[in-house]
Amino acid sequence: MTALMVGKIDTKVKLKGLSLEEMERYAAALGEPSYRGRQLFQWIYGRGCRHFEEMTDLPAALRATLAEQASITSLTCFGRQVSRDGTRKYLFGCPDGRQIESVLIPDEGRLTACLSTQVGCALACAFCLTGKMGFVRHLQVGEIVDQVLALREDLAPGERIGNLVLMGMGEPLHNYEATVKALAILVHPLGLAYPPRRVMLSTVGLVPEIVRLGASGLDVNLAVSLHAATDELRDRLVPINRRYPLKELMAALRAYPLPPRRRITFEYVLMEGVNDRPEDARELARLLPGLRCKVNLLPLNEASAIPFQRPARQRVEAFQQILKSAGVLATIRESRGWDISAACGMLTIEDQKQDQKRLDSTGPLPYDVFRGVEQSGSSLGS
Ligand code: SAH
Repeated sequence: MTALMVGKIDTKVKLKGLSLEEMERYAAALGEPSYRGRQLFQWIYGRGCRHFEEMTDLPAALRATLAEQASITSLTCFGRQVSRDGTRKYLFGCPDGRQIESVLIPDEGRLTACLSTQVGCALACAFCLTGKMGFVRHLQVGEIVDQVLALREDLAPGERIGNLVLMGMGEPLHNYEATVKALAILVHPLGLAYPPRRVMLSTVGLVPEIVRLGASGLDVNLAVSLHAATDELRDRLVPINRRYPLKELMAALRAYPLPPRRRITFEYVLMEGVNDRPEDARELARLLPGLRCKVNLLPLNEASAIPFQRPARQRVEAFQQILKSAGVLATIRESRGWDISAACGMLTIEDQKQDQKRLDSTGPLPYDVFRGVEQSGSSLGS
């Protein structure tokens, strides 16, 4: 059987993306004790190792077998941009040539990594550039996890990624299976070991998947992109609201098994004259009683393809004040990385769909290379 498998890259078992149990089973299938699977899991996720020969606590014969039969695929970094505010945006290529963006946001001595879960997005929110790209494909488990491993390789001495947010390109709950499996690896103590309270998943409000996530026991933080407090308005801004209207969404959130001392975060992008009027704030306050939550107000990031405007600062503050007076916790979130199009809703890859036709005909790009990233710490934050 092995004779047929040897030597053909695409028949190799791709280890990045496998769960601990799957790696243990794979080790068993090779006639090895299952703890070898656990060692692989630690090497690949815990230490970000990409070459079997570096896995020094595995027997040489096993390393040779792995090199023949398995592979550790990685994203290729095609470039990095640094914002005036220190935010860094990365362009990564997947093994099939499709591209995604990830963002590192410095915040009080720590970095927050903003990860993508899809190439493009199917949800078509009216004010979001990723939505304008349309849906290209789901990311695989390994591609979600590898964003963190790749970002870690670009950290300057003393830098650390303290928080993960699934707020990049795509709708994480539309890619439910891969997202949940990736999260399990990201929080696993032998994997990337992020405490679940330092991880946040943001969704536009896919109700059945919110229920499933609650039952998954993952315990990561949940953010919901709300943007409107009436169905009439939300139907227009967030088209999926027609399928899962506010009543159903709020019922699912009220039933969500929130760990103690946690809150659900509502994101509310403020657009002038659309959803930023005093009555919009009052409607929003009426929607929230009985929920442990907070509201993050995001003044719209403007772009020429988006037919809305950012409200003046006083309007944003007046909106916040109405919420506060009604007893709702509300913060205004300053946008980061706007000058390099790394801010919320700005992640998009021009002509990805057209480029794809060309890539499909030339086959996959080589992977397992990490290039195009300047390593000098001195340019960070400049
Ligand atoms: N699909 C998920 C994950 C993406 S998170 C979700 O919608 O929650 C990206 C966040 O940026 C969402 O809250 C989204 O509503 C917000 N956003 C999109 N376009 C924006 C814009 N132009 N200005 C500010 N925020 C925007």
